[in-house]
Amino acid sequence: MKRIIFLAFGLVIAARVGLAEEGGHAAASTPDARLVVIRAQWLIDGIADKPRHNMEILIRGERIAEVHPANSQPLPATAQVIDLGAATLLPGLIDTHTHIFLQGEDPAAGGYDVQLLKFPASYRAVRAVLSARRALDQGFTSIRDMETEGAGYGDVGIKRAINEGLIPGPRMWVSTLSISSTGGYPLEGYAPEITVPKGSQLIDGPVEARKAAREQLDKGADWIKVYMTHRSWVDAQGALISQPTLTVEELKAIVDETHGWGRKVACHAYNGVGLQRALDGGCDSIEHGLEITDAQIAQMLRQGTWYVPTLEVYYTDWDAADTESGKRDRKRVALHGVSFGKALHAGVKIAFGTDVGGFKWSEPIAAEFAREVEFGMTPMQAIQSATSRAAELLGKRGEIGVVAPGAYADLIAVAGDPLMDVNVLKSVRFVMKNGLVFKEPAGS
Ligand SMILES: [Zn+2]
Repeated sequence: MKRIIFLAFGLVIAARVGLAEEGGHAAASTPDARLVVIRAQWLIDGIADKPRHNMEILIRGERIAEVHPANSQPLPATAQVIDLGAATLLPGLIDTHTHIFLQGEDPAAGGYDVQLLKFPASYRAVRAVLSARRALDQGFTSIRDMETEGAGYGDVGIKRAINEGLIPGPRMWVSTLSISSTGGYPLEGYAPEITVPKGSQLIDGPVEARKAAREQLDKGADWIKVYMTHRSWVDAQGALISQPTLTVEELKAIVDETHGWGRKVACHAYNGVGLQRALDGGCDSIEHGLEITDAQIAQMLRQGTWYVPTLEVYYTDWDAADTESGKRDRKRVALHGVSFGKALHAGVKIAFGTDVGGFKWSEPIAAEFAREVEFGMTPMQAIQSATSRAAELLGKRGEIGVVAPGAYADLIAVAGDPLMDVNVLKSVRFVMKNGLVFKEPAGS
């Protein structure tokens, strides 16, 4: 098996040494100016509509210096050459909705609650470290992690450890505790006399809302995550109903505060009143958006609101069809694909997000691509949603999510053609982040 992978990939690494100083590249001997050339048969750069054939990427230190046709220019003598053969090279992928502190807990193993009630913080942190590594291993070189689910400010420390090179992991944008209202987040269902931990910081009133945002921003939140809907069910008429949480006034206090810090607000919102409040309150991104009306799509276009749909996660772990929750599970996906298609055709800005952690990190994060294509994206649009578009959501256009001079050298490669079948993105064989190879094909 290894042998087949190796031959299909044709990876050849050849270090060229010996001529550095004579060549006038004195700086090439310093670590920052390390030179790497990656060659591949196909390049999808994250922005262009078409792939390019037989390209070479020159990397200097942590950034891409040049992108040009293979063998069109003399290579620097000191460059390490990584020839990926018939592979398709792409920018490192970006998942804008992850939970490294969740592990897709099996309900039979205690589900969500046991993580907050019985797991030591250190144990949750260890698992989160492994999740971060798993993201990188799957080719996701950047993630926006959408709250720690009762694990406090653990994401701030893990991001720091990654940035300092202590542990492998993607670039992270973190949102710490998140904010919801009383009655707006688990843990729930315990005796009213018992105080149980909550998976979100619960607030009531604009003053508490602003204070929570200030605390989280002060302690390291890059984004503020707000829950604008909570429970959902199917009513007697067959409509999906979602309980709204924060008021517009509460949300506006959070958005005003967060924007003052130059940061942004992501709103979990399924549909109905809560989704409307999310838009009226000025959310920068709508998470999930299961049922978005035409008027709400028009409002998103006017306000420049992003949509992070997370389609695939709603296809997992359905309850039995004849139960209340089972009906809700089926109604959610019936509405979601329609909303996605309408938003796509209207031109709403869509970024790739998966809610991984809501399902196990051992499952392929890239399963989301096939859902995006199923509901109307071309494979290239789906790839761009996880590269240049996601970078735009994060305010990093031109720096990540693109293979171009000046961008960080975050690159991945797959053995097949993702434009023929996006599912090949589930099997990423080569991963480079910040100019350093994290993963290369077996046998190389
Ligand atoms: Zn989520």
